[in-house]
Amino acid sequence: MSTSSTGGEPSLAERLAAIDARVAEAARAADRDPAQITRIVVTKFHPASLVRELAALGVRDMAENRQQELSAKRVELASDPVLDGVRWHFVGQAQTNKARQIRADADAVHSVDRARLVTALDAATPGAHQVLDVLLQVNLTDDAGRGGVAPAALETLAEQVAAASTLRLRGIMAVAPLDEAPRPAFARVRELSTRLRRIVPDADWISAGMTADFEDAIAEGATHLRIGSAITGNRPARG
Ligand SMILES: *Cc1c(COP(=O)(O)O)cnc(C)c1O
Repeated sequence: MSTSSTGGEPSLAERLAAIDARVAEAARAADRDPAQITRIVVTKFHPASLVRELAALGVRDMAENRQQELSAKRVELASDPVLDGVRWHFVGQAQTNKARQIRADADAVHSVDRARLVTALDAATPGAHQVLDVLLQVNLTDDAGRGGVAPAALETLAEQVAAASTLRLRGIMAVAPLDEAPRPAFARVRELSTRLRRIVPDADWISAGMTADFEDAIAEGATHLRIGSAITGNRPARG
């Protein structure tokens, strides 16, 4: 990571540039075009002012993992033109009773993992012609508490989303397990993506890779990286 010219902590712009350089490098190493990879900045726990700074630096994709925090930031930044064109990704465990608010505030939901949530999101459409991008989160562990659909149930859930008229299935999302090397886990995600595309051929997004493992995710075909602390700095303690 580069250090700032003044010799202190690297600035936000420097951290962003350093990560983007690593993304480009990992893409080249995998014979991939860096332009095909979307780097999403996860801004959870950070204030709206950080989102504003990121947007001013050209960041166009932001992510949050809690509905209340997402909605609060959307309200706080609503009239700020620097946010124009920014896409918001919801990446956290979603409660069905928050579906309406999530739909109102997110452009894409990466964490769809059960039938009831599909039903709730589809029913919460603000208008018949509004379409929400969704990804199916798969659980790469045997611990059901970690969120995500079990791989064996992937096709059934995909068919349900494909049949929901206000949802557009874009791809698959996963978080690497804690007790396993990330690369083979992401290789499984790539296989699951192939299975998904047998049902919805253009659902080709692979949302995988965080601060600790995004290079492995790129090597296994990730198209959307969710990077937080390496860019934003350590998250403040939650109040
Ligand atoms: C917080 C979070 C990230 C980013 O994590 P970092 O390790 O800070 O990069 C990515 N994905 C999800 C689902 C998260 O909750």
